[in-house]
Amino acid sequence: MSHHFRALIHSPSLPVPFSHGVGVSAASPSRAPRLPRARASVEKREQAMEEPGGAAALGWAARDATGVLSPYNFSRRVPRDDDVTIKILYCGICHTDLHIIKNHWGNSMYPVVPGHEIVGVVTGVGGGVTRFKPGDTVGVGYFVGSCRSCDSCGKGNENYCAGVVLTSNGVDRAHGGAATKGGFSDVIVVNEHYVLRVPDSLPLDRTAPLLCAGVTVYSPMMRHGLNEPGKHLGVVGLGGLGHVAVKVGKAFGMKVTVISTSPSKRQEAVEHLGADEFLVSRDPEQMKAATGTMDGIIDTVSAWHPITPLLALLKPLGQMVVVGVPNKPLELPVYAIVPGGKGVAGNSVGSVGDCQAMLEFAGKHGIGAEVEVIKMDYVNTAIERLEKNDVRYRFVIDVAGSSLGSATYV
Ligand code: NAP
Ligand code: ZN
Repeated sequence: MSHHFRALIHSPSLPVPFSHGVGVSAASPSRAPRLPRARASVEKREQAMEEPGGAAALGWAARDATGVLSPYNFSRRVPRDDDVTIKILYCGICHTDLHIIKNHWGNSMYPVVPGHEIVGVVTGVGGGVTRFKPGDTVGVGYFVGSCRSCDSCGKGNENYCAGVVLTSNGVDRAHGGAATKGGFSDVIVVNEHYVLRVPDSLPLDRTAPLLCAGVTVYSPMMRHGLNEPGKHLGVVGLGGLGHVAVKVGKAFGMKVTVISTSPSKRQEAVEHLGADEFLVSRDPEQMKAATGTMDGIIDTVSAWHPITPLLALLKPLGQMVVVGVPNKPLELPVYAIVPGGKGVAGNSVGSVGDCQAMLEFAGKHGIGAEVEVIKMDYVNTAIERLEKNDVRYRFVIDVAGSSLGSATYV
């Protein structure tokens, strides 16, 4: 998200796609007054520039910052030669969807069709598509495009491309500039480069969350060497991302400690998810006892929280990776990192290559998310429950098995 927030700072009248990473402070309340005008201009551009003629699509959209979702008719783009058309089967509900439908980051372009944890089946391919054929089971994650020519894209880090096109609430300049519509819908058209193969062994509903939650924790673990047997990983926040991080960490052979605000999650974390230890972050005694024991920490917390006590858990030269995206700045006193030479890094999902590697890893180790599968008509309740931290551990919408209804207004 670094470039997103940079763009917001330099060009406040032009909301651009969120991209996970650093710079969270830019979504400060002080920007809020500019937003209605910015949104209006985007909607106008959307009407003027949307490519006509693609497949009719039915999704559920939020129309404003109440975040309430209801049926929404729209059309997908006309498929190009290198496009894959996908019937959506399942879509996970990530906390990012909640941040976006409620405009927590100040960049929402309504109507917002959320959803970027998509598993589906290919129903059509363009003449230039080489990697997929109708009938293939595929995934689509947090982004569906990038410039393919910058340094990041050249290095296979499409997720850090300044022109990354997010799957939902993104801007797709190469296709008319309309705001992208995500996976809470029946069909999507995606360039084959951004489509993932789903290994046969994986159950589809439990795989959907891996397309965002899975790669978001797998990618930084690989990059920071938090994938070695015997190392000690701390996972902060046992939600959608956190519970997958526990499973991935255990599959790497690491010692995994959950650091949570919810004592009620202890038993499940240890007995079912395989965590070795469980710390209640609001219990100073427990936190003190674990001082200086961890090689790395993945912080998945969605709301503001103190990070100094977390940094104290790291060994010297330990690494914290922040993946959660609160809309208020976290506090980083230098004394928490300088004496121990500790690192704090951000991470935004992962590249296409990371995502494919993560899916293969999940297939090999039998990793799937713990899911509560719902129909679309339950989605507003699910979002309310997600907001209250009442989900174990990911809602997944059975899109193909839902009656999507029909739009009362567009
Ligand atoms: P989630 O399922 O709601 O999990 C978040 C967890 O954070 C909760 O289960 C809770 O765990 C903990 N938490 C919530 N409020 C807290 C508070 N006030 N203080 C301390 N802990 C709190 O959300 P998610 O889908 O995993 O997403 C988590 C965050 O990551 C969101 O901000 C989302 O936007 C972001 N995200 C980032 C990326 C990326 O690429 N960087 C990708 C996907 C999502 P306990 O009950 O265990 O405390
Ligand atoms: Zn996500």
